[in-house]
Amino acid sequence: MAMNLQIRPDEVSDILKRQILEAEREIDVYETGTVLQVGDGVARVHGLANVQASELVSFPNDILGMALNLEEDNVGCVLFGDDTLIKEGDVVKRTERIVEVPVGEELLGRVVNPLGQPIDGKGAISATQTLPVERIAPGVIQRQPVTEALQTGLKVVDSTTPIGRGQRELIIGDRQTGKTAICLDAIINQKGTGVKCIYVGIGQKASSVAKVVAELEAHGAMEYTIVVSATASDPAPLQFLAPYAGCSMGEYFRDKGGHALVVYDDLSKQAWAYREMSLVLRRPPGREAYPGDVFYLHSRLLGRACKLSDEEGGGSLTALPVIEILEGDVSTFVPTNVISITDGQILLKPELFYSGIRPAMDVGASVSRVSAAKTKAMRAVSNTLKGDMSRYNEVQAFAQFGASDLDTATRNLLNRGERLMEILKQDQFQPLSLGEQVFSLTVGVNVDDIPVQDISRFEQEVLSQARNLHQDLLDEISSSGEASDEAMATIEAAIEKVKAGFQASE
Ligand code: ATP
Ligand code: MG
Repeated sequence: MAMNLQIRPDEVSDILKRQILEAEREIDVYETGTVLQVGDGVARVHGLANVQASELVSFPNDILGMALNLEEDNVGCVLFGDDTLIKEGDVVKRTERIVEVPVGEELLGRVVNPLGQPIDGKGAISATQTLPVERIAPGVIQRQPVTEALQTGLKVVDSTTPIGRGQRELIIGDRQTGKTAICLDAIINQKGTGVKCIYVGIGQKASSVAKVVAELEAHGAMEYTIVVSATASDPAPLQFLAPYAGCSMGEYFRDKGGHALVVYDDLSKQAWAYREMSLVLRRPPGREAYPGDVFYLHSRLLGRACKLSDEEGGGSLTALPVIEILEGDVSTFVPTNVISITDGQILLKPELFYSGIRPAMDVGASVSRVSAAKTKAMRAVSNTLKGDMSRYNEVQAFAQFGASDLDTATRNLLNRGERLMEILKQDQFQPLSLGEQVFSLTVGVNVDDIPVQDISRFEQEVLSQARNLHQDLLDEISSSGEASDEAMATIEAAIEKVKAGFQASE
């Protein structure tokens, strides 16, 4: 007994030491934490009592994470790096920074990950500015209506669903229907316009992104483009983050009074990544197992694309979000959400794609709710186009029962429709200027006497004629956005001239 009560000096110092350590940890617990559990790209951390939601936290091995779930006894952090490099008991530190990315001209021509770190092997990026990835969208007072056109160079898009600077136009369709192709042509067509582009690849194969970069390079578009990539093999949190990072990079140009175009390819995969993260964080799953705030995931992103008021500098950020659907079903959860958030959609159909109608856009089911973005010239030549096309599609169904029973008016409508369909076809990587599009669309209503299989060849002849003899006129229409009666007369005369020398095939 007596032995037990005896206090030995080395024991005392031991107890004191432990208490001091504990007390130290008591303070530390606000700024640092220890990993309780790690797996599936998420770490649960004890401590970090002062951490803010969306704050960047640093793990050992230079791995960054973001504090997302602030619970009573732990903090759920998503990891932007390899979770196998982190183990239980590791120390986590606050950085006191909300997740941010470098922004600026220095990023143009580069391929970066969603944290803005270069992944193209071209060395460090010397950007001096950063912006948080999550920013509040400009309010109503800071905006103004969309009025200037953002030409995609695609006849079918510019004539039937014109896109304006500051607009959000959804590109929606099944797998392999040319969704990415439309976005790339839109980017390539911004050459020389001063519009800066950001292509955000989300959840794609690394080889697909490499192909996109190579194509942009080959068409001289990388000079004014930033590529942000989180591939399918990257952790889900990076895929979740990618569009916000790309958006902030675009906002930099918008807020300087410039113009930017951002492509999110695609938001379905971002939603999957977010669902995965949320399930691992044990947030309650809702419809289709997505967390309840999946609408907000996309609305807060797309709300940031807009045209700023003149007081705010008049800059714009245009967004082309892409959504992949299954068997044309647009009524599932994420597609309906995004349709309701955007200002219109371009619907691509596999049937059209495989029957050779490319871009495979369903003109009847595609809309742009911002009609002011249409140039006067385009308005003049495409006024009746959408109506003609939908009436054509209607009577086409009847025509299958036998063309002999049709009255002349219907037969004319069919003839016209078939030829317009030919005119609206366009190969990839051949965006046309406004002037060239005006020529082509005028061809569409002046070739009822040319066989359908020759329309495309005839159009090409008219275009090369126009480039040879009427380059001034092409430039004038493209720059003014207007086609005078005189100009239209010149175009029609040019078409007649080509017709006179045209050899129709048998
Ligand atoms: P995914 O679902 O795999 O992302 P996607 O819908 O983005 O596919 P793309 O990759 O753009 O489709 O296009 C699919 C294929 O069709 C590509 O090989 C592309 O080159 C081709 N393609 C797309 N548009 C056209 C076009 N207008 N003319 C000719 N080929 C085209
Ligand atoms: Mg694609």
